[in-house]
Amino acid sequence: MSLALPILDDLPQRPKFAQGPRSLSAVKLLRLSLTDRCNLRCVYCMPDDGVTFYDHADLLSADDIVAVAAAAREAGVTHFKITGGEPTLRKDLVELVRRLAALGPEDLSMTTNGLRLGQRGGQLAHELREAGLDRITVSLDSLDPQTFGKISGDRGFTLEQVWAGINAATQAGFEKLKLNVVVIGGVNDHETPDFAALTLEHPWTVRFIEYMPLGESTLTQSLLGANTFTVDNQQIIQRIEAQHGPLVSVHRDREPGVGPAQVYRLDRPGVVPGRLGFISAMSQPFCETCNRLRLTARGELRACLFDGGEVDLLPTLRSNDDPQPDLIQLMARCVAEKPETHSPRGNRAMSQLGG
Ligand code: SAM
Ligand code: SF4
Repeated sequence: MSLALPILDDLPQRPKFAQGPRSLSAVKLLRLSLTDRCNLRCVYCMPDDGVTFYDHADLLSADDIVAVAAAAREAGVTHFKITGGEPTLRKDLVELVRRLAALGPEDLSMTTNGLRLGQRGGQLAHELREAGLDRITVSLDSLDPQTFGKISGDRGFTLEQVWAGINAATQAGFEKLKLNVVVIGGVNDHETPDFAALTLEHPWTVRFIEYMPLGESTLTQSLLGANTFTVDNQQIIQRIEAQHGPLVSVHRDREPGVGPAQVYRLDRPGVVPGRLGFISAMSQPFCETCNRLRLTARGELRACLFDGGEVDLLPTLRSNDDPQPDLIQLMARCVAEKPETHSPRGNRAMSQLGG
């Protein structure tokens, strides 16, 4: 796919930022990537000229995933996030949710492109709710059908199908959805005030995510240079305020989850049901408050999205009767191996790391 885009001004020099915590006790969230496969090819996440997926035989089994999650609970992790690739492609998803919920986390949530939630009368959304899933985040990068097609790699899926998924999730009891919008300069940044307007009607948190150049994707391979697509969230805030008036800051603690977003709401008389979140990993890195580990679908544990701190859990998972003590030690090692400061260009695609 070719994108005809204006070249944005060079980003300002990346600010210096404090090093993240090196102790396992700071880790509250484990992101579990259930698969690296996906039915979309979002331009910021995957290359459109083909993706080499892991062999099925290499993917972690449900038992493996639950063993890592149980070890994480023992080590003090309170929140699990199910992710992918696209987690709804995993056949044992509902059963996995049931088993993860049985570990008693404070919060069990999933990030999805939403396409499968609306199928068969919303059956999956209901099954997930019944199995113990607390929250859902749906990724949606455009309110325009053509732009949605372009960004998601023109795979024959429609914006309408995502809305059907969102409706199914709402009807199943996931009313307080989060919507993730990756903002891409020259492609969807003009839509950000329209996304913000959704929070006047719905109890949703719309989160604007600065595009991060990670691994190989259509955007990282672009001749324009990957960094030209990142838009500083301060510019997005200005754009939204120009249309909707000054934003009101909301204390982060009042939001579910333990994510890195700065949270605001639109200012209107009466109750505004929704919130706006800004995740500014590029312009204002938040390593200082990093509280997460991520498990790839092949069993690697990663401390950082961008690079470094990668520990392979598979040999331990497969070689021991009771791997838990060793898994906890490996988790501690992984956190200790975090990079000093994260580089501006990550070494693996988000579809493998799960966000
Ligand atoms: N397939 C699911 C989805 O799209 O929600 C879950 C996996 S996806 C890798 C997790 C999140 O990462 C999504 O919200 C997606 O938009 C975001 N993401 C992927 N690549 C990104 C990038 N290069 N920069 C910023 N966010 C990205
Ligand atoms: Fe698939 Fe999610 Fe990556 Fe899009 S962002 S290609 S939906 S894994």
